[in-house]
Amino acid sequence: MFESTIAGSLPRPDWLAEPEKLKGGWKLEGEELKEGQRRACREWIEHQEQAGIAVLTDGEVYRRHFVHSFLEGIEGIDQDKKTVMGIRDNRYDLEVPTVTEALRRPASVFVEDFKYTRSLTDKPLKITLPGPMTICDTIADAHYGSRPEMAMAFAEILNTEAKELEAAGADVVQFDEPAFNVFMKDVNEWGIDTLNRAVEGLQCTKAVHICYGYGIEENIRWKETLGDEWRQYDEIFPALNKSAIDQVSLECASSHVPLSVMRHLSDKQIMVGSVAVTADHVETPEEVAATIKEAMKYVDAERILPCTNCGMTPISYEIALAKVQALGAGAELARKTLV
Ligand code: ZN
Repeated sequence: MFESTIAGSLPRPDWLAEPEKLKGGWKLEGEELKEGQRRACREWIEHQEQAGIAVLTDGEVYRRHFVHSFLEGIEGIDQDKKTVMGIRDNRYDLEVPTVTEALRRPASVFVEDFKYTRSLTDKPLKITLPGPMTICDTIADAHYGSRPEMAMAFAEILNTEAKELEAAGADVVQFDEPAFNVFMKDVNEWGIDTLNRAVEGLQCTKAVHICYGYGIEENIRWKETLGDEWRQYDEIFPALNKSAIDQVSLECASSHVPLSVMRHLSDKQIMVGSVAVTADHVETPEEVAATIKEAMKYVDAERILPCTNCGMTPISYEIALAKVQALGAGAELARKTLV
């Protein structure tokens, strides 16, 4: 009951990478970098175990960016051909690489690191991958000429990667689709089809993480324009409830998402975001339990998985650790007091 998990990234320690940045550069290289990433992963696995988190992650400490680190392993992309692109419907501009040929995955991308992570713990382990629609909103296209077509090509590649991660012992494969909150019409027209393609044939638990983004300036400003009630989920949850996905996340901590939107997900497990990913406040276990209690108005307790709202890469290590501990303690408190 109330099996807690982490939605996305955890901060990389400051000896490994520039801290509190979305794409902070590595401070080590070669074998030292690899060793450092493994040490950072080991430490987060220990922190999560000590905090009582039920389904652990590698904290994405092997990656510089949740989309681009995957794309670096894919052929058909010219990493040097940079295109300035308005990301998430022009919320912010980024210089991104360009797809110039048909996409191919010459070898697995995350599997070797994942095998190491798997060797560290007997607990259930989740691995995250960028979702096809979000990838297409984070890279320029000079080949396919159609977002749905390019997304389907990525979905096929992601599916092969996901199957190898499953074979290497992943209990949960999660696709990150923050773009689902922005292009709701596309989600219904082709986004869910590409997501279904990405999880096709997987026997493990299949999750999708949708969110209002990292706690960075651009997102904070965007959220201020969304009004008092964030109802984007209303437009996509009904279709997601019919998808092949088992678990869906939503942001509940310090957000304006009306929790009643969870009613659309009657057939799914729900990752209830119970700690926010901004650094200004560390939730108490009581606050985490209160969010879980609020979610129970709309969802059976059995389907609730307390979670972080989003990735925590851009905040300090110490604050993120305190939030992970509050999440574990809050889920425990909920088990003792709410059921
Ligand atoms: Zn997120």
